[in-house]
Amino acid sequence: MKPASFIHHRPSTIDEAVQLIARHAPEDGRILAGGQSLVPIMAFRMAKPPHLIDINEIAELDLLEIAGDALRIGARIRHSAFGRDRIPGPTGALLATIMRNIAHHPIRTRGTFCGSLAHADPASEWCAVAAVMDAILVARSIEGEREIPVRDYFEAVMTTALRPDEILVEVRLPLLPTGTRFGFCEFSRRAGDFALAMVLVTMRIEQGRIVDPRFGIGGAEAFPRRLPQVEAILNGAAPDGLTWARAAALAAESLDPLEDAVTSGDYRRDLVRSLSIRAFTQVEA
Ligand SMILES: Cc1cc2nc3c(=O)[nH]c(=O)nc-3n(C[C@H](O)[C@H](O)[C@H](O)COP(=O)(O)OP(=O)(O)OC[C@H]3O[C@@H](n4cnc5c(N)ncnc54)[C@H](O)[C@@H]3O)c2cc1C
Repeated sequence: MKPASFIHHRPSTIDEAVQLIARHAPEDGRILAGGQSLVPIMAFRMAKPPHLIDINEIAELDLLEIAGDALRIGARIRHSAFGRDRIPGPTGALLATIMRNIAHHPIRTRGTFCGSLAHADPASEWCAVAAVMDAILVARSIEGEREIPVRDYFEAVMTTALRPDEILVEVRLPLLPTGTRFGFCEFSRRAGDFALAMVLVTMRIEQGRIVDPRFGIGGAEAFPRRLPQVEAILNGAAPDGLTWARAAALAAESLDPLEDAVTSGDYRRDLVRSLSIRAFTQVEA
């Protein structure tokens, strides 16, 4: 199918874009970023926005830089920008590893980091990263700019605190300290498909003990989140099979799983247990 007709706006500044979205949001006008989720939805006529505000010509949004202790990611930054060695340290290694799990190469060269957060598919890898790393989301509208901590951002499946008249201009990811190790594991039925579940864990190991653990799940619930009760088991424990087994069992038990016609909640619990063990084992390596 073809999309319903629409007017294509191409602002060249953020100010111009916020004026346009303020005017057209009440009639379901939308921001167009990479178009890798919005265009298929329009082609199936599941959305018929009469106005698209295309942000691809706004040079100000081409922002990928370290400022203080955070990585700033502007709304024009594509998934593929996180290739190996682009960002230094453990944060860069984590982003490069996770990027390779998103869709296929052509989609990665168009789809954007901020677009993934705005779309908020439960199985978005970048949404899981944002949740585990305590991202700050920066939204702009004609009323000005506001910062949304990720803990206040996700509300339900594909539903967030971002208002229809706001543009997500930037995401700030706190940098992981030197020496941080990470493990990431996801499962999807075919390569490039959205994952049925994923686990991301980061930690340091000092004098044989786990320090500053972060543990989160994505794809398995309505939106990704950290699991503080699992982090409490990890914190100060020895990085060994017994700890991994206890933490993975609690992660599976704590789940409020998504269910659909082909994937039961019990299956997702089992997945989370297995993926957790695999992610922990990567940390050991
Ligand atoms: C075959 C296929 C497989 C895929 N597999 C995966 C996968 O494994 N993992 C994954 O995470 N994603 C996957 N995707 C989705 C892809 O990553 C998208 O790029 C991403 O979800 C949305 O980013 P986008 O820039 O393309 O946004 P768009 O498609 O342009 O927009 C998506 C939605 O977000 C809104 N939006 C976008 N940017 C902003 C902004 N800055 N401010 C406010 N609103 C905004 C739009 O209005 C729209 O409602 C897949 C897509 C396809 C087609």
